[in-house]
Amino acid sequence: MRIYADDDRKEPVAVICNRCKKEMRVEKGIVKEGCFCGDARFGYFSNKDGMEYCFDLCEECYDKMIAGFAIPVEKREVEELL
Ligand SMILES: [Zn+2]
Repeated sequence: MRIYADDDRKEPVAVICNRCKKEMRVEKGIVKEGCFCGDARFGYFSNKDGMEYCFDLCEECYDKMIAGFAIPVEKREVEELL
């Protein structure tokens, strides 16, 4: 989950892992460690019609989540890192 100081919700002041409650390191609105930002929108043909779900996972909880997948996640090398 992300906590913002302002209503514009541009720069989080804190990012907390939804699974384990670890507070991740944030400097000037930028998360300074591994973080998975989940953002899922469900449309008309789902049971969550028109809802958006957002969550954050620390790197350790992300690894635990994908370890349970029947098909491994795809990996690609990123050319530009922030
Ligand atoms: Zn976690």
